[in-house]
Amino acid sequence: MEVTVAPLTRGAERDGNILVLLRDLTEGERINQMRADFIANASHELRTPLASLRGFIETLQGTAKEDPGARERFLPIMAEQASRMTRLIDALLSLSRVEMNAHVPPSDLVDLNDVLGHARDTLEPLATDSHMTLSVERFPKAAIVRGDRDELLQVLQNLVQNALKYGNSGGNVRIEAKHIPSLGRQTRGRYAISVVDDGPGIPAEHLPRLTERFYRVDVDSSREKGGTGLGLAIVKHILNRHRGELAIASKPGTGSTFTVMLNEANAG
Ligand code: ADP
Repeated sequence: MEVTVAPLTRGAERDGNILVLLRDLTEGERINQMRADFIANASHELRTPLASLRGFIETLQGTAKEDPGARERFLPIMAEQASRMTRLIDALLSLSRVEMNAHVPPSDLVDLNDVLGHARDTLEPLATDSHMTLSVERFPKAAIVRGDRDELLQVLQNLVQNALKYGNSGGNVRIEAKHIPSLGRQTRGRYAISVVDDGPGIPAEHLPRLTERFYRVDVDSSREKGGTGLGLAIVKHILNRHRGELAIASKPGTGSTFTVMLNEANAG
């Protein structure tokens, strides 16, 4: 449903009435609209660092041509803008790869303990760099799901990287692993992996929108910390493909918990 609200005017004056137009969008129109919004957002996100780079290049070619101090100050900023564009393009490519495979459920058997071990090895150095500690639990027995190992690793990396990015220096991030046994023959058991931080938390009104592409609680803080606004959208798409789910719980001032739920693989 598209809603347009406009005050009615008589000549140049508002007459106190409001016009509300409700237009029911068909599924096709809605998808086209989402696609157009996505392209507009992605272009805007790329344009900003590009404009800044062009500004610096022009300055270095013009007024600051003979100024080695300016070159020294500007080059690290230019390098960071180029890295920002690279991160964004990498994230866009990841999202597009996952979307392309959306209708093909993964068929490999993956042990989540293997993914947890790999996540610990790749993320511990990042935690140390951020002056934070990371602890990683394992499931007591092999935890087998049908999945794509690299995609599941990416899910954990995105969630832990967020916890490190938005957490307080000196804080702790935990990955907890729980098996939820099946309740009867009809249902399968599930595996829950939670990424728990003791950072600033997220106000409740933002929680339902966090997995939307380019949705950020605080755009400036996300950019400053190297965010693209696509990390949780990628997580959601990977989990959709795995028929899994993401649950988010957060309390401002206390921290956030992002829980990934995956089904046990069928025996045989
Ligand atoms: P970004 O690249 O901006 O981090 P994400 O899609 O990964 O994008 O996350 C969306 C937004 O959710 C972030 O911009 C941030 O505002 C919020 N967020 C995600 N994880 C956390 C967390 N662990 N603690 C606080 N805020 C978070």
